[in-house]
Amino acid sequence: MKYFILLLTFFNSNHFTESSTPEFIWAIDTAKIEQKLSSLFGESRGDHFHNGVDISSDNEKILSIAEGEVIYSRYKSDNPFENEHGSGNSVWIKHKDKIYSAYFHLKDGRESKLASTNLVKQSDVVGKSGNSGHSSGSHLHFITMKDKKIIDPLSILPKVIDSTKPQVNKLILTIGKSKTYIKDGDNFNNSSDFPISVEIFDAGEKKSQRRGIKELEIYFNKKLYKKASFNELVLEQGKWKTESGQSFDELYFENEYYIGNLHLLSGPNTIEISVKDFSLNETKKSFEFHVNKIKRKE
Ligand SMILES: [Zn+2]
Repeated sequence: MKYFILLLTFFNSNHFTESSTPEFIWAIDTAKIEQKLSSLFGESRGDHFHNGVDISSDNEKILSIAEGEVIYSRYKSDNPFENEHGSGNSVWIKHKDKIYSAYFHLKDGRESKLASTNLVKQSDVVGKSGNSGHSSGSHLHFITMKDKKIIDPLSILPKVIDSTKPQVNKLILTIGKSKTYIKDGDNFNNSSDFPISVEIFDAGEKKSQRRGIKELEIYFNKKLYKKASFNELVLEQGKWKTESGQSFDELYFENEYYIGNLHLLSGPNTIEISVKDFSLNETKKSFEFHVNKIKRKE
């Protein structure tokens, strides 16, 4: 990713003079895109944020989301002896208003039109969806940037149906390698401030999907403890952070949303979770539980 930031600084000249907000289209013209949108912006990828959206797709035409200029593309055939990049075959396009779009994991074979010109119109074919690079199953990993910020593609693309509320499932208390679920009404012993995380996902229009959420608010014993949203990623001192300045490690713990190493009180405690998905469907869930503080046995 750092490489692309560097690359973009070489293409600072502005070929597009109009300043009106451009209109964008989805990079794949396909039916039921709401069911194919398998991963969203800002999700956990183990040790980093997912920086785009994933669309399940194989061998479909990939379209430029707006008029622009291809500023970079890389195909395995450019250098067959080089190790494969994580992004696989990829294309980067610069649009007006300092917006960039990127298309990853494309099938081998550069579009022949792009051999003669870098200029593309909206919906020009820039590749075919595939499974190149670090990808398990054919899909398009689609990124959008504005200036040097990575932005949620859903913030500029046409709206997608999502009539399902996000699910807040369980609280997870992690002590060393052991994980205990905290359910509403539980009563348990606690000796120290251990990490507590919460399982949340948004199934959307396909029940098997486990997608990320857009906004999160956590109240601990009736006070706002944490607030997060996933709209932008900004590189600060070598670390990607959300627009509110939170790093990956502040927002995720072992693949679940991280609440914190909470200082539970002896007696009753409450944790209230309020989440919104990208369509701003909202779910609130409250956990009340009783804690018996004990001394840890050495
Ligand atoms: Zn992806």
